[in-house]
Amino acid sequence: MASVYDRHVDLNQFMEGVKKRNPGQTEFIQAVQEVAQDIFDFIEDKEEYHHAQILRRIVEPDRVVSFRVCWEDDNHNIRVQRGWRVQCNNAIGPYKGGIRFHPSVTESVLKFLAFEQTFKNSLTGLPMGGGKGGANFNPKGKSDAEVMRFCQSFMTELYRHIGPDTDVPAGDIGVGGREIGYMFGQYKRIVNRWEGVLTGKGLEYGGSAMRPEATGYGAVYFLRNMLQHRGMDIEGHTAVVSGSGNVATHAAEKITQLGGKVLTLSDSGGFIHDPDGLDQEKIDWVKHLKNVKRGRISEYCDHFTNASYHGDGARPWKVSADLALPCATQNELDEEDAKALVENGVKAVSEGANMPTTLEGVHVFQDANVMYAPGKAANAGGVAVSGLEMSQNSERISWNHGRLGDMLTELMEGIHGKCVEFGDQGNGHVDYVKGANIAGFKKVADAMLAFGVV
Ligand code: NDP
Repeated sequence: MASVYDRHVDLNQFMEGVKKRNPGQTEFIQAVQEVAQDIFDFIEDKEEYHHAQILRRIVEPDRVVSFRVCWEDDNHNIRVQRGWRVQCNNAIGPYKGGIRFHPSVTESVLKFLAFEQTFKNSLTGLPMGGGKGGANFNPKGKSDAEVMRFCQSFMTELYRHIGPDTDVPAGDIGVGGREIGYMFGQYKRIVNRWEGVLTGKGLEYGGSAMRPEATGYGAVYFLRNMLQHRGMDIEGHTAVVSGSGNVATHAAEKITQLGGKVLTLSDSGGFIHDPDGLDQEKIDWVKHLKNVKRGRISEYCDHFTNASYHGDGARPWKVSADLALPCATQNELDEEDAKALVENGVKAVSEGANMPTTLEGVHVFQDANVMYAPGKAANAGGVAVSGLEMSQNSERISWNHGRLGDMLTELMEGIHGKCVEFGDQGNGHVDYVKGANIAGFKKVADAMLAFGVV
């Protein structure tokens, strides 16, 4: 049995070590497993990475901060939540990654997200390290005042761990413009400085045009790049989309603008199937429902009566379509779902969410030669525009929508190009998982090598 200090442990021994050091952290272990195989193959003959133990170091976050968040609800009950910030790796720039407020948030979930974020941010080509944070707080059903009090309490601890050159959080599930506003206000009040410490800010106070759209649009641009690489396009194709939040609604919007037909949207209660397709008016209606009324997707069918609602947490993957965009949450598309999509002739899958497809599901797509873009590549448009928001804040300027749209298109093309460079199988097929893993890893690992043993 090789010692953990052997330079050449095999993949199984390596993963055993990861499991031992992170007991019960299933999401984190899954995320490491997903990249480890590709990285092992890539570094096999590269002694410098083995010698420096880069792989062991990269799976160990720089730090994990965990803290208590107390707040008072509208009935004067004192509530206690747990908050975290995971600072995974800052080799190539300040930590950067969203904040998630959802009852399912755990340290394992945030470690997986921060780990993925490290590779994703590297892929964008911008100087950003990887981090992620959040709390097991459920904003659903809370009044604005309750959400404000929670955000203020959360930031009262978080502020000491972040800064425009240290760690720059953004939004994620459960954290949109309202929550970013409350947190930014509290940060500014505590430090008495206006600085670009959060991205996803409102346009009135330093936010970037295009940021709300960037993740969803970017996932569709990546999808288009994949299709065009094989001589196809989005126009005339049907798509199933999951989720009905920021990423899902903007992905649906861009598919529609490019001549595709979106058939589904979902939330944690179930999904709607609209055989007529969602046009801009229907998408705007859903945005209003989710962002302003904070309602449920089932209400869509009361308004658009040709559509059907499938409840009990049903997912849309059995609806026949050419394209699939999982845009809700992790592990929402499993092996059986992937098989159903393949049987129905799906051509390409682009992940708007982070790790929405289980490992088994990914293998189904790969075995069927379906074009499959992992979230770390396909949804990198959001963090890329966040990187551009940081640049605009530093320079005290703001770029317009058109210019940022062009930059986003170019950035996604660049990421697609890197995936092809490292993932081309030489038979017309591109392994986008491998391409994204290796391209993302190489830049971070080379920076770590330059720093010596730190
Ligand atoms: P939102 O909070 O705006 O929307 C999340 C959507 O996913 C909602 O429709 C929500 O439904 C649904 N959802 C959440 N949890 C579950 C669950 N357990 N089962 C089924 N559906 C669920 O989040 P975003 O759109 O911002 O984020 C969606 C995904 O995209 C996440 O994986 C996030 O990490 C990823 N992402 C987001 C980026 C961004 O810029 N916002 C950037 C890169 C990735 P319900 O209302 O019922 O909870």
